[in-house]
Amino acid sequence: MFNDPMPVPSQPEVVVRRSARRRRTVSAHWSEDAVVLSVPQSATRREIEHWTRELVPRVVERRRREAARGAERRSDDNLLQRAQELSRRHLDGRARPSDVRWSARQTTRWGSATPATGVIRVSAQLQEAPEWVLDFVLVHELAHLLEADHSPRFRELEARYPLAGKAQAFLDGVAWAHRTAGRAPEAQRGASPS
Ligand SMILES: [Zn+2]
Repeated sequence: MFNDPMPVPSQPEVVVRRSARRRRTVSAHWSEDAVVLSVPQSATRREIEHWTRELVPRVVERRRREAARGAERRSDDNLLQRAQELSRRHLDGRARPSDVRWSARQTTRWGSATPATGVIRVSAQLQEAPEWVLDFVLVHELAHLLEADHSPRFRELEARYPLAGKAQAFLDGVAWAHRTAGRAPEAQRGASPS
């Protein structure tokens, strides 16, 4: 399932970083898939072992909780609720989505909408996108439930989302990066949500 978060390693690689500026304080944080343990310059091996046992499980647990929250936020149920809320907030509640889900197959477009049924699909590629970008794509698709094509009337509805211009620029940038990296070269050509 593409909604599943990446598994969090319970015994991650630990990178010890000695700092001359640190006197007593020790801290641990994630850097990619490793945990960086920052210790004073003078730390002994025994002290480092002790802090590894103390601090690494805590940061592992914290990342697990964050991953679980992220997966929950990005579930299909939440996507429908989110779309309903955006319709209320920006479209006077007139767009009534019946079914809003992530689609792993949606690789050529950011989203799609079927006015006759109220079904909206959003590309799973947007699961990691900032919330305000996802919201823009949802507003775009919600507006399609009211106006099928990109008419001036449609653009007026879409522009009610305050960050529309910025979000469109973000999506254009992602599409550009994909093209440049040779990924989905044809697919992303029309960067707008369709
Ligand atoms: Zn469109």
